[in-house]
Amino acid sequence: KSFEDLNLSQELLQGLYSEMKFEKPSKIQAATLPMIVSPPYQNLIAQAHNGSGKTTCFVLGMLSRIDPQLKAPQALCVCPTRELVNQNEEVVTRMGRYTGITTASTATVETPSHLYSSRREKIVDQLVIGTPGTLKRWITKDKALDTRNIKILVFDEADQMFDQDGFQDDSLRLWRDINRSGKSCQVLLFSATFSEKVKSFAMKTIPKANYIFV
Ligand code: AMP
Repeated sequence: KSFEDLNLSQELLQGLYSEMKFEKPSKIQAATLPMIVSPPYQNLIAQAHNGSGKTTCFVLGMLSRIDPQLKAPQALCVCPTRELVNQNEEVVTRMGRYTGITTASTATVETPSHLYSSRREKIVDQLVIGTPGTLKRWITKDKALDTRNIKILVFDEADQMFDQDGFQDDSLRLWRDINRSGKSCQVLLFSATFSEKVKSFAMKTIPKANYIFV
């Protein structure tokens, strides 16, 4: 198995090899990338421990689906904490270095977390990363995040998000808004752990989801 077998663009392969210095896919990457990056772009609930390389799975999923010519949000990554938003943004920026794809994140909003400054300008970045509450406000209150072109929705550390009612409501709301505004989009859930409750909820909620445990 190699990254070349996945029909990734030259720009993405260059990001993987020159920038990330990866040589070949890890176990979770070999298991999930074919169904993530190739049609019919399947829905996935994946459990893999930290350090297994799961970030690469959903980052490649997002970067490979984006049309760089279209200056509108096309991929959305939802994370439970600001730290994770920052970490994922860094991976996206490095892996996507040669693609020209741009990113917006809720972590770059320079306000204390208890204050919320509304976002006035419409987002023209193609990939958006954030925490559920702020993303929800960007969509419904500020109307800054247009969801009509979103093709892939990722929940990182999904267990943590779907286990708390407020988070779960915001996350489900996001997904519903996206599905309402356009065609149904691909959904990826990644987590190091899944409680039985969250797993059964996710299997019921996400249509035709594959479950993978590595
Ligand atoms: P993650 O589990 O996504 O947080 O990744 C754990 C670490 O493994 C990170 O430092 C990645 O840069 C690294 N990593 C991910 N995929 C690969 C790969 N295919 N080859 C080598 N290192 C990798």
